[in-house]
Amino acid sequence: MSIKPTAAPVSGTAAPTSPPPVTPMGWMHTARFLTTAAQLHHLPPIVVPEIAFVGRSNAGKSTCINTLTQQKQLAYASKRPGRTQHINLFSLGKQGLTDAVLADLPGYGYAAVPKQDKIRWQRVMANYLVTRENLKGIVLLCDPRLGLTELDEVLLDVIRPRVQEGLKFLILLTKADKLTRVEGAKALSIARLQAGGGEAKLFSALKKQGVDEVAQLLWDWSHEAPIDPDAAQSSALLQAELNHEEDEPPRED
Ligand code: GDP
Repeated sequence: MSIKPTAAPVSGTAAPTSPPPVTPMGWMHTARFLTTAAQLHHLPPIVVPEIAFVGRSNAGKSTCINTLTQQKQLAYASKRPGRTQHINLFSLGKQGLTDAVLADLPGYGYAAVPKQDKIRWQRVMANYLVTRENLKGIVLLCDPRLGLTELDEVLLDVIRPRVQEGLKFLILLTKADKLTRVEGAKALSIARLQAGGGEAKLFSALKKQGVDEVAQLLWDWSHEAPIDPDAAQSSALLQAELNHEEDEPPRED
């Protein structure tokens, strides 16, 4: 797929008035499938902020995305065999007015994956995290009972320079319902140190802990600067083009 957002002419007029108020949870609920890519160059160039969800398999990433977007199946579709090694993009914002994109990256560290595939995917992920221009933030999901694994540490090393340059970063400690208060506080203080310039939060899909807070944070990341009207228009065009492509062959399985 090769889609180039068309730059909108600069009108010279004032920016459009702000959109009607929307809650971060309402905004998350607008998430819908945009596209999937097995390789980086298949990802469409997008101008709106992109937030990547990464983590080892079983960390609770799909459950977290589904909880945040209040949709039962959104991220599970990407777990079907064969689809696990794709980057899946979800649009946020009202139809035709995409103002951010979530990127669900493949879970890593799954023992049954052949070594060659693991290595290839580590490379794709590292390239994505280093080169994706519109990447605004990264959410690293981690089961605090296991702590950061070796692969998590590799990923941290890859993104550290970008975090120092201002890329937003959150370590999300999942399944917090399985921890006592004391364990939770301890895990949080360790994760805060590991996050470097980023932050850390406890999250439980089961108890709905941290859900509003994370939705608010992602909203803040995505709307930090006033939305560039050119970018908004480009993304609307992109959305229209992608909608048009629905007749193309279905996603790979
Ligand atoms: P992924 O491989 O990272 O996408 O992980 P999943 O979202 O599939 O979750 C892995 C396992 O952890 C599943 O059995 C989930 O039911 C469980 N899980 C996910 N989130 C929570 C949570 O907040 N609390 C508890 N107790 N279990 C969870």
